[in-house]
Amino acid sequence: MPTPVPYSFFQSVERSFDKAAIFTDWDPGVLQQIKQCNSVYQMRFPIKRESGEIVTIEAYRVQHSHHKTPCKGGIRFSLKVNQDEVMALAALMTYKCAIVNVPFGGAKGGIRINPREYTPYELEKITRRYTAELIKKNFIGPGTDVPAPDYGTGEREMSWILDTYEAMHPGEIDSAGCVTGKPVTQGGVRGRKEATGLGVFYGLNEVCNMPSVMNKLGLTTGVKGKRICVQGLGNVGYHTALFFQQAGALIVGLAEYEGAIWSYDGLDIEKVVKHRNDTGSILDFPGAENFANTRDALEMECDILIPAALENVINGENASRVKAKIVGEAANGPLTPEADEILNLKGVIVVPDMYLNAGGVTVSYFEWLKNLSHVRYGRLEKRFAESRNANILGKLEELTGKTVLPQEREVIIHGADEVDLVRSGLEETMISATREIVDIWQKTPAIPDLRTAAYVCAINKVATTYAELGIFP
Ligand code: NAD
Repeated sequence: MPTPVPYSFFQSVERSFDKAAIFTDWDPGVLQQIKQCNSVYQMRFPIKRESGEIVTIEAYRVQHSHHKTPCKGGIRFSLKVNQDEVMALAALMTYKCAIVNVPFGGAKGGIRINPREYTPYELEKITRRYTAELIKKNFIGPGTDVPAPDYGTGEREMSWILDTYEAMHPGEIDSAGCVTGKPVTQGGVRGRKEATGLGVFYGLNEVCNMPSVMNKLGLTTGVKGKRICVQGLGNVGYHTALFFQQAGALIVGLAEYEGAIWSYDGLDIEKVVKHRNDTGSILDFPGAENFANTRDALEMECDILIPAALENVINGENASRVKAKIVGEAANGPLTPEADEILNLKGVIVVPDMYLNAGGVTVSYFEWLKNLSHVRYGRLEKRFAESRNANILGKLEELTGKTVLPQEREVIIHGADEVDLVRSGLEETMISATREIVDIWQKTPAIPDLRTAAYVCAINKVATTYAELGIFP
């Protein structure tokens, strides 16, 4: 059994990179350039709280790679934020964008606060001041660096960022593209909120549909009836669980920071969320077993375990007790390198974060494109498609002498709305990326796991861009 070794998050990303780099033919200098963070901005600024107390806020923005611009990556609010973590998350963004063919370099931002300890007014002050600091150093803009939500942030914070940016760039026509994950009324795109969870579902669904992979695990193909455990009921975890439930899977376990609940009969995700809103906790949900420690749920018997909260939750200490056959990394970095090795030895398939949770950045890309084109998806073609479909259907009915039911007519005639196009683009992206990575993995037997295959895919794409730019002739 490998002995647990303490690695920083960034070092563990570098370690995974090095493990994959040996399966590529790039010059060591090229690999070194790809691995490093291009720009690291560490800042401190003061905030006066509503109580009158003055506190100093520690914050970061890291641009990992400028091989394509703008850079792109979320902003998290958490007490665990530190420079190493933001660097690691920025690096993962570079590789993630490359894998799903989103033409951005990777970036990430973080503010070291517990958002629950601040009032909405104070959070707005902090977010606006952080944005002003980014503007001062040219670390934000539709063509330079485009933040998005991450752990502890959402649409509200993105609105504050946009408003601050616009106030300081009056008349800039593309300013809405300076941040993504905005509310639809502020230039957001329909389908962004649930995009990461839906992307996790599409990715795992595709893996479950592959007989070659399912046979290895002794599982049947398809997600129907699969037993799923999700850690973290935030944006990503909630939507992932919801889409699995809608596809006929059984949500047997849900874990939050206050504890976990378990039922082999399946938990209704909407009812659990309502129970939590009413009681302040997921614990004591009717018909479910309680675990006081959220980590206990990670070690229970299930088919797919989906950590969707924080990094390093499965590590050298607990990985050997994980009983799931598939681990889908919805969160960023939920497994340490030791956990990866242990799970690999146990024959568990780990579907890696760097592409599995790429749904958010993929739809962020669609949002950015919408902002630059200044037009809602579907606006130009929806009615045209509907009248063409109605004409074709009318002609077929006339020729066959048969008519379709009104509900069927509605489905056949329907022209795509914005959310239809966004979801379709996301599904296409996730399915193609899954197939590309599994293909790399299966074609080179020496590649030990899907994570290494994903890194090989990302390294080749980033290095090819540098080569095509003539930077590495
Ligand atoms: P979020 O803040 O909406 O949700 C996180 C949830 O995890 C919260 O409900 C929180 O209470 C819970 N949690 C915190 N500590 C926990 C613990 N110890 N055990 C169990 N639950 C715990 O954040 P999110 O946006 O859903 O992000 C979750 C993860 O997904 C992060 O790693 C983030 O980097 C990653 N991610 C998010 C997006 C996105 O679009 N939001 C995109 C890609 C990756």
